[in-house]
This record gives sequence, C-alpha cells and structure tokens, in this order.
Amino acid sequence: MSSHKEFRKCNCGNPMMVSDYNYKEETLYEFCDVCSYYHTVAITNKPKDGNYKEWEAVYQEESGIAGIVLKIFKAESDGYEFCCIKKDVIRSVVEDLKKATDVVKFGITFKNKMGFYQTQIYTN
Ligand SMILES: [Zn+2]
Repeated sequence: MSSHKEFRKCNCGNPMMVSDYNYKEETLYEFCDVCSYYHTVAITNKPKDGNYKEWEAVYQEESGIAGIVLKIFKAESDGYEFCCIKKDVIRSVVEDLKKATDVVKFGITFKNKMGFYQTQIYTN
C-alpha cells in the first residue's frame, strides 16, 4: 500500500473526516462525508520521461464545499464507497448509477433550502 489513511476533525464538527495521503503519488485527498468539504493536493508537472534531476514540483491545491455527498453500496462489498460531487453533475451521476449492475443502492446527501442535511436513497 502506498497510501496513509487517517481521520481528522472537520470544521463542521465531524470527527471522522477521511484524510488520505498517497506518498507514492504525493497526493492528498481529504473529504468530509457530512458537509461535503473537500481538500485535495496534487502535483501537476511530473516529468513524463521520469527525469527528476532539475525538476521542482508544482502543487495544485483545491478546497471547498462540493455540495453533495455520494455513498455507493455495491453487491460484493460490506461497506460503501463515498465521495463528494458538485451539484451540476448530479443528474448524470444518478443516471449512471441507476444503470450500474454492481450497485445495489446509493444515497445522496445535501443541504436543503431549509439548511438541513437531507439524504435521498436510490435502490437499484
Ligand atoms: Zn464536514
């Protein structure tokens, strides 16, 4: 394994925000499955020829509130996968997941107009 996973506290109060650092790729992916906060760091200029001699890494950092937490339950696994997505792609993501044969059910969580978190469950 080339990644180190740990839990950190998110600003929303969730003590179990996933922080995944891949030390081989030098990427960081943090994601809160409550408020959809995300924080990613990645190197954008890895030399294609593998020559790192006079190379200096350029990091791209992004963070924000994505808007929607997606949880996917698959037939052959006990747990679930989750990630955050932005509202403008939700329709196509839902359509794709409805067609996916290995997906048993999935849920999307978002903050509704009243300011409460709301989860919608889809069963395939
Ligand atoms: Zn959070």
